[in-house]
Amino acid sequence: MQYNPVEMIGQSIRSIPDWPKQGVTFRDITPVLQNPRTFRMLIDIFVARYMQQQLDLVAGVDARGFIIGSVIAYELNLGFIPIRKKGKLPFETVGEEYHLEYGQASVEIHVDAVKEGQRVLLIDDLIATGGTLLAANRLLNRLGANVVEAASIIDLPDLGGSTLIKETGLPVFSLYSF
Ligand code: AMP
Repeated sequence: MQYNPVEMIGQSIRSIPDWPKQGVTFRDITPVLQNPRTFRMLIDIFVARYMQQQLDLVAGVDARGFIIGSVIAYELNLGFIPIRKKGKLPFETVGEEYHLEYGQASVEIHVDAVKEGQRVLLIDDLIATGGTLLAANRLLNRLGANVVEAASIIDLPDLGGSTLIKETGLPVFSLYSF
């Protein structure tokens, strides 16, 4: 029987209307992770894509970027670094603020997370406005990292985030678009 892994993953993403607020459709990846078959397919696609890229580290964004980023790093025999929401990392940090629809948010990284010139894959579950990954990319650049690509499972192209990220010169890869 023929099957298309990307379609199977896409069909496993659960869409929840009006969550966490009216007008937002939340794209929930928990069913993809829950099923060992789609979880493995998902990880295998990223592993195959980055296997030959001579990466040093995978940086995952709080919190769903941790789930996939750490498994991809493990499979590629790379280290994993967390980019966290403000106030969560215990050692000395640098932070970057970004705009949300209402107000501001910020992400932080440990100052010693990356060495100058290290090749880093940046990953999160979803790109909406791109603000989160752009802030994460600025953090990594401040530490001297060479960010090779920004990757996500899901892109919401109508919100323009992936285009904004590409305009900074950083390549973007997403598995599935809504
Ligand atoms: P943005 O910074 O606007 O690109 O938003 C991306 C971040 O917000 C990611 O960490 C996502 O997990 C989360 N996010 C934004 N919109 C959605 C959505 N519709 N469904 C699920 N997660 C979302």
